[in-house]
Amino acid sequence: MFLMDLFRRHSTCTHDHVAIDSQYSYCPDCGELIENEWFITRCACCGIKQRAIIKNGEIIPEANFCHNCGGNEYVIEKLDKINFIDINYAVLVKTVVREEEPEEVTQCWEEKNTNIPKLLQLFK
Ligand SMILES: [Zn+2]
Ligand SMILES: [Zn+2]
Repeated sequence: MFLMDLFRRHSTCTHDHVAIDSQYSYCPDCGELIENEWFITRCACCGIKQRAIIKNGEIIPEANFCHNCGGNEYVIEKLDKINFIDINYAVLVKTVVREEEPEEVTQCWEEKNTNIPKLLQLFK
């Protein structure tokens, strides 16, 4: 339920039907481009992987203390790619990807302008 509340704050769509096998895919319910981000937590003391959960919108280890060294400090690590080992430890965060500012579009127009003299000649 924590997961549902977290995503409702950002959007009315919870993107439940987004395919999770690729990093980016479009939500079939709302059409937003979604980035699937996987996170694990590690013990800051011994570096062992700890199963991550999302609680109150924060990524935290499931256990309060490291089962290996008893430490309670942890680091959050973003995974570039999920694999079948890490999937047991990782939490999935679905982030809406916003459109980039149209800088590249401007460059495109400038390039097209060089063709205008040729076009004008055709009309003469
Ligand atoms: Zn959606
Ligand atoms: Zn530890």
